Amino acid sequence: MSGQEKTDSMCLGPVGTAAERELLCVFGTGDLGRSLGQRLIQAGYRVVYGSRRPHSCGPLPHGAQVLSHAAAVQSASVVIVCVQREHYDFLESLAPQLKGKVLVDVSNNLKKGLYPEANAEYMQRLVPGASVVKAFNTLSAWALQNGLSDANRQVYICGDSAEAKQMVADLSTSMGLSVVDRGSLSASRELEDFPLQLFPQWRLPLWLATGLTAFFFFYLLTRDIIYAAVEQKKDTSFRIMVSLANKVFPIVSLIMLSLCYLPGVLAAILQLYRGTKYRRFPDWLDRWMLCRKQIGLLALALAFLHVFYTLIIPIRHYVRYHRTQHAVSLIRENKTAEFDNTLAWRTDSYYSVGILGFGLYVVLGITSLPSVSNALSWREFNYIQSKLGFLTLFLCTLHAYLYGWNKFLKLSTYKWYTPPGYMLCLIIPSVVLFCKLLLLLPCVDRSLTRIRQGWERRSDPGAERGEERISQPLMR
Ligand code: NAP
Repeated sequence: MSGQEKTDSMCLGPVGTAAERELLCVFGTGDLGRSLGQRLIQAGYRVVYGSRRPHSCGPLPHGAQVLSHAAAVQSASVVIVCVQREHYDFLESLAPQLKGKVLVDVSNNLKKGLYPEANAEYMQRLVPGASVVKAFNTLSAWALQNGLSDANRQVYICGDSAEAKQMVADLSTSMGLSVVDRGSLSASRELEDFPLQLFPQWRLPLWLATGLTAFFFFYLLTRDIIYAAVEQKKDTSFRIMVSLANKVFPIVSLIMLSLCYLPGVLAAILQLYRGTKYRRFPDWLDRWMLCRKQIGLLALALAFLHVFYTLIIPIRHYVRYHRTQHAVSLIRENKTAEFDNTLAWRTDSYYSVGILGFGLYVVLGITSLPSVSNALSWREFNYIQSKLGFLTLFLCTLHAYLYGWNKFLKLSTYKWYTPPGYMLCLIIPSVVLFCKLLLLLPCVDRSLTRIRQGWERRSDPGAERGEERISQPLMR
């Protein structure tokens, strides 16, 4: 027994004692049936399995009984059906025995929309006399056996009978699980789709990061490598590994950081235009807002890569070779390289602003971790993510401007009439910072604050067109 499980069973002592005499029936002696049965026995319940082959179903949790389906269901009021949906037809023949019982559907599907009706609703149709409750489908047999982590502790339940749901909720809490009631059985399809979700909040940010990385990689490949091969007949392909990577990562990182703040700015502009905060934002803007944290974390990961690639610059063969060559040629020609004060200022400012920006970037990343953000009040969290966030964006943007310095004005920078990557990546951050500056102007800020406090302009253009309003003010 793991430490976690020991704690669970100790906490559940009194509940386990109360439930000692209660008999629960589990249909199916497969993976989930066994794991759930073991947990229920540990919580103090008696468990009887209903199986097609009660005499040859293999080892079961210690203390469990195994009978045929019809015999097992006799004295239990709750039956947990740990059988795949495809085999539910056997329940139809047991309908008379299952009348008045609570049937728990734990099933999942391999993909969304596989069947016209949800598995739990199908079960209810097969056994109309029972009260079907959807539960436990988001747990895994493995996690149940190996000690539940916080992420696996939540049980979503839904069903049409409040009494039946309460019974299932009680046995869930006695197993150390926390219950979330999702309403009637019509919510079961949504619950069945839960386990099929794969990082839903990360999809858009990952697509964005991949798309931008691919675009800038090919853009810079053309400008830096192919241009040199075609125009100067020079093979600089070795630059792909470090130089190109160290250009693409910071470029994408800065764009993604600005994309965290762009939706907030757009939302503010929309509220000012509409003169109210009580109208829904377009769906795309809502979706964008919801994945800002993930966009920011990916941006931070790319910034880390930029830092690591920058740190290895002095040990690169290419850099060491050129330094030595430069020193040797100065000695040969008996020359001294002049100290360029402006260049020193420029590079020091560039590095210093970059380091400060990265430091704040890390603070933003740390405060977005649930364990840290949970310890902050809403005001503190908002202060860090908004005020410090814009300062980070400003410093990182300034870092890129200092990198460009006077190259913006040199014609030779625009190879094949294309601007370098760092210039392209400055467009969105500059627009975001400029718009934020406008929003901070006292006259604009005053209007926005009033709107966010509930004030509404009388002639709301959207209201005249009958656009949807929200009854509750949204926290933006
Ligand atoms: P499993 O290991 O394949 O076990 C299914 C059990 O169903 C079999 O052991 C068998 O028990 C019974 N069965 C098979 N064919 C049957 C038939 N024609 N008629 C009646 N009973 C039949 O599957 P499982 O992994 O335990 O999953 C069971 C259900 O739980 C599925 O609906 C699954 O979606 C859901 N679920 C599983 C997990 C998991 O981690 N495994 C997690 C969440 C939800 P007998 O031989 O004793 O009759």
